[in-house]
Amino acid sequence: MSNSLSARERLAIQRVVMPELPADVRSRNFEEVNRGLSDEQALTEARRCLQCKNRPCVAGCPVGVSIPEFITALASGELPRSARILRHDNALPAVCGRVCPQETQCEARCVLGIKGKPVAIGYLERYVADWAMRYPNLLPPESVSPATGMSVVVVGSGPAGLTAAGELVRFGHAVTIFEALHVTGGVLRYGIPEFRLPKEIIDREVALLGEQGVVIECNVIIGKTLTIAELRTQFDAVFIANGAGLPIMLNIPGENLKGVYAANEFLTRVNLMEAGRRNDSSTPIIKRREVAVIGGGNTAIDCVRTARRLGAERAMIVYRRSEAEMPARVEEIQHAREEGIEFVMLTAPTAIVGTSGGWVSALRCQKMTLGAADSSGRRRPEALESSDFELPAGVVIDAIGTGANPLLTATAPDLSLTGPGYILINSEGETSIPGVFAGGDIVRGGATVILAMGDGKRAAATINDYLKRK
Ligand code: FAD
Ligand code: SF4
Ligand code: SF4
Repeated sequence: MSNSLSARERLAIQRVVMPELPADVRSRNFEEVNRGLSDEQALTEARRCLQCKNRPCVAGCPVGVSIPEFITALASGELPRSARILRHDNALPAVCGRVCPQETQCEARCVLGIKGKPVAIGYLERYVADWAMRYPNLLPPESVSPATGMSVVVVGSGPAGLTAAGELVRFGHAVTIFEALHVTGGVLRYGIPEFRLPKEIIDREVALLGEQGVVIECNVIIGKTLTIAELRTQFDAVFIANGAGLPIMLNIPGENLKGVYAANEFLTRVNLMEAGRRNDSSTPIIKRREVAVIGGGNTAIDCVRTARRLGAERAMIVYRRSEAEMPARVEEIQHAREEGIEFVMLTAPTAIVGTSGGWVSALRCQKMTLGAADSSGRRRPEALESSDFELPAGVVIDAIGTGANPLLTATAPDLSLTGPGYILINSEGETSIPGVFAGGDIVRGGATVILAMGDGKRAAATINDYLKRK
């Protein structure tokens, strides 16, 4: 098919469908569900793009990926150029192509979405990024500025930290990342399961940053091993991107029973320590027939699908609003449903019930109805009288959100914080300490990969200006 198609011919092409592992197969293993587009599918999808001059889709991308340009190069069969354009704008394209909420970001602005289906920008991004990983030697070299003699330290190797580091090293600064865990990636590695984002993808994208000169030191906890004040004396600028991984619990009776997990703990055990996945894992995990996960976001869906893969026959999402209000990605909800996940909607837990031995046996719940919209714009759930009931469950997972961990901020008294403990920044991304910048979840509260990356990219530009002024 030629790339010189008329608009009418482009509009006649149907949006591609992502090949997937069948639900009955994938719900028993951790293989990636979305298999990626074939060459032919990617080329055909790329030809749907109208190459709009005003580039509305780009405004929907927090890191400003040159979407029409990378897609046009792909449609012309110039994959090395397409990959270079993509990577210049986005330090983690293979990650974003998999986990970005494209439907509410770039694709929500695509003109084709007005009357039909938007261009599958995320799928194409994944296709080009995966191709580039297979053929790294075919990519044209990237331009890097001469060394400036300035140094920047980044706290945390999640998407915000990795993106900032990639940008800063390109500006010619020496960049060191200090990471508290023994591995890089932040939530990408310990939170998002491999059936959505294989570890190999994170490894390869982080390795590329290493090749560009970013130095990563793991097992360094800022707030314990070193303080922000010490970093400030050793580096010319500091970027704090330590995320917001402190679990929030419901504070209902029974949360101290055996079999209750916070989502991050459950996911870390399975994703990072391979509990329940490898017989020789030294980390235990409680497996039960019935598992109830409380919450409606991506984290809750990841937990329930993980529990299913560990063998739960009845894996349930318990959510106090209806499906329309669930913050999780539509694709993930659909995948979960296909895998046999049960959705117990308009239901709020009031207590966790236990056996005399201290093990979880059920979740006590109350039925809800939706009232008027609250400050978030979502309809407020209201309890229905005399609607109490019990859901049998041997494991209960709290996945209602996370907050700021005070470990770092407690040792930095000059750092101004918001009420819930997030770091305050000015419009330039700078904190109350000159030369110390912050971004990602530690500023916004739990958000998304691409918003964290957007913060990292913006902060890198501001830090570069700051260092030039120095
Ligand atoms: P993080 O990813 O949390 O990284 C922070 C890093 O800092 C970590 O590596 C941490 O170990 C390190 N660190 C913490 N404290 C210290 C310290 N004191 N010293 C040194 N290092 C430290 N978003 C999406 O867009 N799509 C999704 O599908 C999606 N799914 C999700 C699923 C789950 C289970 C979760 C929990 C979140 C999900 N999100 C998703 C949200 C997204 O992952 C986060 O918004 C994003 O990772 C935030 O990036 P960050 O760099 O700010 O922080
Ligand atoms: Fe869209 Fe995310 Fe890619 Fe930006 S990074 S173009 S928002 S998929
Ligand atoms: Fe292509 Fe849609 Fe962007 Fe237009 S808005 S350039 S059709 S991706």
